[in-house]
Amino acid sequence: MQQAKDGVTLADIMAAQAVLRGVADATPLVPSPYMAARCGQDFLLKLENMQPIGAFKLRGALNAVANLPKGTAGVTCCSTGNHGRGVAYAAAQRGIRAVVCMSSLVPQAKVDGIRALGAEVVICGTSQDQAQAESQRLVQAEGLVEISPFDDPFVIAGQGTIGLEMLEARPDLDTLLVPLSGGGLAAGVAVAAKAIKPGIEVIGVTMDRGAAMHLSIAAGHPVEVEEVPSLADSLGGGIGMHNRLSYPICRDLLDDTVLVTEEEIYHAMQVLFFEDRIVAEGACVVGLAATLAGKLPAPRGPVGTIITGRNLDMQMFHRIMAGDDIQLGDTLVKGRRYGT
Ligand SMILES: *Cc1c(COP(=O)(O)O)cnc(C)c1O
Repeated sequence: MQQAKDGVTLADIMAAQAVLRGVADATPLVPSPYMAARCGQDFLLKLENMQPIGAFKLRGALNAVANLPKGTAGVTCCSTGNHGRGVAYAAAQRGIRAVVCMSSLVPQAKVDGIRALGAEVVICGTSQDQAQAESQRLVQAEGLVEISPFDDPFVIAGQGTIGLEMLEARPDLDTLLVPLSGGGLAAGVAVAAKAIKPGIEVIGVTMDRGAAMHLSIAAGHPVEVEEVPSLADSLGGGIGMHNRLSYPICRDLLDDTVLVTEEEIYHAMQVLFFEDRIVAEGACVVGLAATLAGKLPAPRGPVGTIITGRNLDMQMFHRIMAGDDIQLGDTLVKGRRYGT
């Protein structure tokens, strides 16, 4: 089970399922009556915010660490926060060193969470690309093994277990709305879901500013994007100019990619909190946001989306729930009290 292969299959995802069992699996899939009323079909939320590290990335990280060569002294990665937290947790469990490289755009709450798990944190530059360059340098300089947040077969297989669990619980799901950044999650979920149910629609959703995978699919090759502050900070960063796996899988298996604005994300965070009583990051609500904004065709059957994580800055969260304006770099997100 150790060879990094090209491509990811249902068998790889089932192998990952065995690795995760009892540690990072079986999160609830709960209905959202409010969203169902809005889209005319059952609308189900896969609560990955309830993972031990507060995000789904634990699945991929545990599977990658479980498949490291014997004798690996330590691991390194770049991260927008949650992958680093997953790698830190998985490395601590195995008793090896972890060094997480992040850009200065990563919120302090995420940096603190990673340090609390015993990992070393390196802040370098203002983009994911700069963080990745540092991670690669550490591979050479310190003999660490790099675990990509999305372009790694074991990471993709780990994230794909979410698709298996969703379809086990609700075989009638017809559309999956998947938050999309580097595409590890969407690739894994699409491989799993389409292997089990070829007719299912899998749609990647992301923010309209710096939508790396969306623009890469449109261009026919990986493209670089400018990284800007977003309410969906976990969706920031490029897909890597030498992407091997997550780009071709997303290109071939996603039925569509849809973009949402910061205002739409803001509103959807309020909906998830006030209607479903769930605290979640901006990155999680893009599926709700696209649905509420009327950006998707009317669904033919039950819809599922993944509430990917809860690791947000609580002060920022309070301000959004209060309806305050939010300044993101040089962009102002106009606030509004919920229900007014
Ligand atoms: C990483 C992440 C995503 C996106 O996953 P990719 O595999 O990079 O597409 C979505 N939501 C949260 C909370 C994340 O941490």
